Amino acid sequence: MSDTNIRDDIYLFALQNAVKHKSVPKAGAILGSVMGAHPELRPKAKEINAMLPEILAEVEAMSVEEREAKLTALSPEMIEKMHEKKERVHELPDLPEAEGGVVMRFAPNPSGPLHLGHARASVLNDYYVKKYGGKFYYRVEDTDPKRVDPEAYDMVTEDLRWLGIGITDVIYQSDRFPIYYDLARELITLGGAYMCTCDNDEFREKKLKKQPCPCRSLSVEENLRRFDDMLAGKYPEGAITMRVKTDIAHPDPAVRDFAAMRVLTSTRHPRRPDIFVYPLMNFSVAIDDHLLGMTHVIRGKDHIANTRRQEYIYQYFGWKMPHFYHYGRMSIAGLELSTSGMRKGINEGLYTGWDDIHLGTLRALARRGIQPEAVRAAVVDIGMGDTDISFSWENLFAQNKAIIDADADRYFFVPDVVTVAVADAPAMEAHAPIYPNQPERGVRVLAFTGSVLLPRSEIETGRMLRLKDLFNIRITGEGRAEYAGNSLAEARTAKAPIVQWLPAGEGIPCSLLTPEGTSEGYCEAAVQKYDQKIVQFERVGFARIDSVKDGQVTAYFTHR
Ligand code: GLU
Repeated sequence: MSDTNIRDDIYLFALQNAVKHKSVPKAGAILGSVMGAHPELRPKAKEINAMLPEILAEVEAMSVEEREAKLTALSPEMIEKMHEKKERVHELPDLPEAEGGVVMRFAPNPSGPLHLGHARASVLNDYYVKKYGGKFYYRVEDTDPKRVDPEAYDMVTEDLRWLGIGITDVIYQSDRFPIYYDLARELITLGGAYMCTCDNDEFREKKLKKQPCPCRSLSVEENLRRFDDMLAGKYPEGAITMRVKTDIAHPDPAVRDFAAMRVLTSTRHPRRPDIFVYPLMNFSVAIDDHLLGMTHVIRGKDHIANTRRQEYIYQYFGWKMPHFYHYGRMSIAGLELSTSGMRKGINEGLYTGWDDIHLGTLRALARRGIQPEAVRAAVVDIGMGDTDISFSWENLFAQNKAIIDADADRYFFVPDVVTVAVADAPAMEAHAPIYPNQPERGVRVLAFTGSVLLPRSEIETGRMLRLKDLFNIRITGEGRAEYAGNSLAEARTAKAPIVQWLPAGEGIPCSLLTPEGTSEGYCEAAVQKYDQKIVQFERVGFARIDSVKDGQVTAYFTHR
């Protein structure tokens, strides 16, 4: 291989890598790829290494679009291969006994709007109902009034609609208290539950020592009497608990004679202010999963102990258990996911609301321009394996980009502007493509009339800059620059950054909200037409135009 050939080859690798990862790779990574593909070049590693900085600088100076266009011209096969990979199908393993249809559910507590954790639970279950047909219940688990936010009822419904979950039936557990009371009596009669009046701490101590409390051996009659007295309001809050009789020596202390019903008077239920006897989660979940005919339940690993508890209820009643699956925990880097934590942050003014750009709620993602299909694909990609994983923003963003890119018109946004007068430059117009790969979508005409707005971070006296789609300038001092010709090749050799710019006096103020903070700047006036739509601010990233008011744009950063 001649040196020119080697150079071309490295250039191609660098380009491919940059297109694939949307950033310019490190020299070491490229060297590795080149050596992997051409082992015969190993003895030449030193020479190749020496060529790398210049090649990488060349690639770095190109815009994302230019890189893709160049790679398409040089090696259409490479581009094709990359796109093939993008179109991979998102699939999950088959379920047993599902061919005739399934009955599944999404059963959140209405304590706040849905977040990415809920997206996983709802999408995984929904996936199978869509695959096999059947029923999909949205079951509102509102039997703990302390964990009910009245506004969450509507928020969750909106979020499920946004996410495209195919709900067929909606059930409110707070409509079903009589059912829970009836089945509680039945369970007592079967000898599967008892009414415990022991002090809670004393019970816990005994339970840890695998010792039964005295109430465990009460007769069915006495238990029923206590139960009816409880419903009649004869026990104050905390004075009585219905417990399911399990194995008092069960290896998991959390399973031992777990609580199934209690009295609560200090918090009133927003939908049922008359109620003061509440089933606890394991009881109402098991009863409803059975009565509604669930065939398969997919839920998080944190429910494994609950499944063990619920199994006792199934056994007492002689019911068939649904198939249970427990997926691993999902952490999300840098994000508050607990509803209570988010609520606290909102109350303290740390977040502006449930759709604050820093939150992982679906409404926050929607506000940023993340599409529901991208959330679904990202969640299905994570799957239902039981290993703990960390959520990949990169994957979500890649899925989202594949959806929004084709419709996102390109515009300039200049952050933190400095007005720079350019001396000796010809009056010229930039014809910047609306979408570089589709010239038929037209151009934006930006007329240069002497002064431009530039991002402060690029300004440095003596530095050459290429104004994108226009010409080169050299910064000569504070707010001053001079024309430096029109040659792209010269700009490359000088390693001049390509910058977005605006004719002074033409742009409109634009605040770009990002998780790292708000970037104040100016954008092209045409962006006003995109209210509630997504554009791509060239070299900055995609953004959803959140509001346009009095010639002032507020945009939410989506991703790069
Ligand atoms: N409502 C409970 C929760 O959201 C139970 C859900 C379930 O059993 O899957 O954690």
